[in-house]
Amino acid sequence: MGDILIAIAIGVAIIWVTRKILVMLAMPPPEVDPDQIIEVERHYRCSICGTELIVTAVSITETDAPKHCREEMTLTWQAGS
Ligand SMILES: [Zn+2]
Repeated sequence: MGDILIAIAIGVAIIWVTRKILVMLAMPPPEVDPDQIIEVERHYRCSICGTELIVTAVSITETDAPKHCREEMTLTWQAGS
């Protein structure tokens, strides 16, 4: 009989934690600060599958190339600079 109570308690705890995680995931991300965005034109290509991507704005806080197929994409062309 004690075992069943422990099992129920564990089950309730799992449901409670799962719901907490789902609520956290459902929270919207913070607002983007327009001062941190610069307009660019960069063309990237995925060296794995060949997908090409044109980036028209980047955050000054994010300097890494975008990733595709779990690899950083290769910069093939960029305007100015
Ligand atoms: Zn890819």
